[in-house]
Amino acid sequence: MAPILKSAAALQRMREAGRIVAIAHEEMRRAIQPGVTTKQLDTIALTVLRDYGAEPCFLGYAPGDHPPFPATITASINQELVHGIPSRDRVLQEGDIIGIDVACLYQGYVGDAAFTHPVGEVSRSARRLLQATEAALAAAIQASVVGNRISDVAKATAKCAGRHGYSVAREYTGHGVGSAMHEEPQVPNWWNSKRSKHQWEDCELQAGMTYAIEPMLIAGRSDLVEQGDGWTVVTKDGSLTAHFEHTIAITEEGPWILTLL
Ligand code: MG
Repeated sequence: MAPILKSAAALQRMREAGRIVAIAHEEMRRAIQPGVTTKQLDTIALTVLRDYGAEPCFLGYAPGDHPPFPATITASINQELVHGIPSRDRVLQEGDIIGIDVACLYQGYVGDAAFTHPVGEVSRSARRLLQATEAALAAAIQASVVGNRISDVAKATAKCAGRHGYSVAREYTGHGVGSAMHEEPQVPNWWNSKRSKHQWEDCELQAGMTYAIEPMLIAGRSDLVEQGDGWTVVTKDGSLTAHFEHTIAITEEGPWILTLL
């Protein structure tokens, strides 16, 4: 299926949805400290979204055989890669890193972004992982120009991760974003040119395409397992992970990040 190209008016509305997501992230970032629960962060995000008249996309989301997701944010700590369920029992500890993902629907369009934050003082290796994951996102955004292909974006992410000595999550990808949270194309974090189960459709980038890029970097091996809650994805070897995401638009002038304050 071809990606849906957005008009200038649609991009403006996506920018508004993206701004609300950014505000929610900023409010949570300020609240992060040892002793705070992931449920408290979830409440902060839901309050911001509702204040701006936006709806959380994850709340009640139930693709495939997953149970409905019960919260506004996903909160994934340390070895949890993505999709952690906020809870009153998950208390942030000094030295943790916490990845938070939020998406909202506002006036018919979606914004989707994720950040990973240190809790208090973290180890040097955790800081390095956060920096490398942000750098991978920046590299993938930079590769998001008219004339390039989705495979160029994927390779930019993988190259940056590899240069820093990290692996990437192979089974999880970024995705087109528009009036739905998930549209074409898939935006992988690596590229496999051989035929395999990881064979994504490549396509040329055109002005008006909008997608979320979301590198997920892993300090150890890339093998992942899903927890018994039906959502939380963790590294099999228990190694640290980080996740950053922006929704961007391809324009003739270059990539436009939609999920900024
Ligand atoms: Mg997201």
